[in-house]
Amino acid sequence: MSSTKSYAAQEATTPLAPWTIKRRSPKPHDVEIQILYCGVCHSDLHTARNEWRNTVYPCVPGHEIVGRVTAVGDHVKKFKAGDLAGVGCLVDSCRECDNCKEGLEQYCTNGAVGTYNGKEKDGSGITYGGYSKSIVVHEDFVLHISDKLPLEAVAPLLCAGITTYSPLRHWKIGKGHKVAVLGLGGLGHMGVKLAVSMGAEVTVLSHNTAKEEDAKRLGAAHFTLVSDIKQVIKLKGAFDLILDTVSAEHDYNFYLSLLRRDGILVCVGLPPTPAQVQVGKLVSGRRNFTGSSIGGLTETQEMLDYCAEHNIVSDVEVIAMKDINEAYERMLKGDVRYRFVIDMATL
Ligand SMILES: [Zn+2]
Ligand SMILES: [Zn+2]
Repeated sequence: MSSTKSYAAQEATTPLAPWTIKRRSPKPHDVEIQILYCGVCHSDLHTARNEWRNTVYPCVPGHEIVGRVTAVGDHVKKFKAGDLAGVGCLVDSCRECDNCKEGLEQYCTNGAVGTYNGKEKDGSGITYGGYSKSIVVHEDFVLHISDKLPLEAVAPLLCAGITTYSPLRHWKIGKGHKVAVLGLGGLGHMGVKLAVSMGAEVTVLSHNTAKEEDAKRLGAAHFTLVSDIKQVIKLKGAFDLILDTVSAEHDYNFYLSLLRRDGILVCVGLPPTPAQVQVGKLVSGRRNFTGSSIGGLTETQEMLDYCAEHNIVSDVEVIAMKDINEAYERMLKGDVRYRFVIDMATL
């Protein structure tokens, strides 16, 4: 065991503050990583503040982790000290269920283990995430990171990147497809970059006129203000797929009507209340209303390699660890273009 500096929420209503955690010594298949950067995901804030009513305190958030390997267990073949490495939202799963066997560990029937606020399978306690100096993870859940891209801008790919890449790949988006990205935030800006890189004609749907310039800069062909009824009506039946990144309540029926026959509305945001869907909207065009969660380990590696090849990273604002509480407040106001990333040298 080794002591590691971290930042933790001690309870739902207190700000995050310095705290010392213990990391296990590497077991035969473990990789020990010195964390260099950790992205700040909206899930971090939800969990730190117990908004999903399942937080175990103290809580050390962070699941967009990029760093350098400092030690490996005796049986580790894929990594050696000095390698760059990444850890995303998962650190373990059952490895035996059909989903795990198909490389879809995020849908593990027996419950995958989250990088933070997860229960270790060996009963050793609760997992602590990337707002810390180091982490020890089984090699099967560690990813290779290219040295071609700026590391701080790669970190958000581990959650925001894979969350948007996976549905675009699953529904085979490419040339000739019209894709709409609903909401231009941490997830949405990655969705635009990735869908454009796959050859789709991308439209950003937003409530905020100030986002138009960014949408175009990110590669979107079109921008439509959803409150502009005259413009939106023209989009009825227009899209093959809508990537819905909004995690606040909104009218799904309106967006379903923008899909062509067999079109797909895929939710990657998690609104707190149940959705009201008119079945008629589904029946009338054989439309699909569905969701998608992060990605498995194989697909996450594929996404990282794809981004290295196509020079795709997140737009980031690097912050010091001590500024995390202020960053949360700014996230709540939508005041970030488009992801905060913590420089762990400041911890
Ligand atoms: Zn996340
Ligand atoms: Zn499983």
